[in-house]
Amino acid sequence: MADQTTEKGLYIHVPFCKSQCIYCGFDRIFKYQLADNYIDALDIEASLIGDERRVSTVYIGGGTPSSLSAKQLDRLLSVVDKHFDISNLVEYTIECNPDDVGEEFTAVAKAHGINRISMGVQSLNDEVLRLMHRRHSATRVHQAINQLISAGIDNISVDLIYGLPKSWNYNFIDEVDKFISLGISHLSAYALSYEEGTPLARMHKSGRVEKLSDDEAAEQYQTLTERMSQGSFDHYEISNFARGNKFSRHNTLYWQRKPYFGLGPAACAFDGKHRYSNTPDVAQYIDLLNNRKSPAQAELLTDDDIFNEIVMLGMRTRRGIDKEQMKRLPKKYSDHFREKSKQFFDEGYFTENEQFVKLREEYWFVSDYITRKIFV
Ligand code: SF4
Repeated sequence: MADQTTEKGLYIHVPFCKSQCIYCGFDRIFKYQLADNYIDALDIEASLIGDERRVSTVYIGGGTPSSLSAKQLDRLLSVVDKHFDISNLVEYTIECNPDDVGEEFTAVAKAHGINRISMGVQSLNDEVLRLMHRRHSATRVHQAINQLISAGIDNISVDLIYGLPKSWNYNFIDEVDKFISLGISHLSAYALSYEEGTPLARMHKSGRVEKLSDDEAAEQYQTLTERMSQGSFDHYEISNFARGNKFSRHNTLYWQRKPYFGLGPAACAFDGKHRYSNTPDVAQYIDLLNNRKSPAQAELLTDDDIFNEIVMLGMRTRRGIDKEQMKRLPKKYSDHFREKSKQFFDEGYFTENEQFVKLREEYWFVSDYITRKIFV
């Protein structure tokens, strides 16, 4: 097990997808002819980072990492083996589409020590999947999960989207219960958003879909949290539920402001003082690295930024806002926090112990509003 002082994550972004989901605003492309050059560039990027290369978690995200060929995936995971010390790894996750889970994918994942899968399921209703332009079916989800479990990868997380358009008539309670009975250890739930530039936003503008009201979406979130709790899932972060203590070690690093490397187009990294963001343009990323130039832009965080991050990230988790982290900032920040949070203590939103201030779970749905009131 990695001890607290050696905790550091590695995130690798795979910017390719085989099809476009209608709600997607992520950085991903469909030009698989760039995939081999992209992996070569990753190799160069990994060779350029500093000397300390020990990591406690690895997360391969995207995009759709599983949409690479088995050979490409093997090469990509070999970049991790070659450049990083993963001898103390506590978690190694890869995102996948259920449609891509087959013998080849499972064999490559196993060979490289992957022990956790994050599967983009989103819905178990075939009609909803079709409307979202997801390329898999509900049956494929079951097959993929069975295949992974038979291969010994049983730490499986799935994504679910709630707050779907009104006209997409389906029973949300049935949907949640189907997810719970999948035999998974973790679920991440996201509210559907209508991001500018996505096909869904265009459909909304032209009147082809009607948004669920905020109250209706809040009701679904409430239903979700109740059913998940009945299904023995621990609601440990605003959007995340874990069974049997299988919470996401990697994402927990982000929420606790621990450092992480980030490789690949659009990837971000954090060293405790700076945030680094790589160019999202895949061709430019490849080009820069072929010329041994960094694809990252660095931003030095100010004390205001750090305070806001401590509040925003802490408010999202059951653990809460870390008072020790806040005390490392000038005293005026703790004073500001006390003054701005008084109303929320008085009204029973917050509780606290020696080390943490916690937002009660029943108010997590309005955490954004409270966060904004406390920000400097
Ligand atoms: S698979 Fe994920 S990254 Fe790719 S288009 Fe769909 S939502 Fe976006």
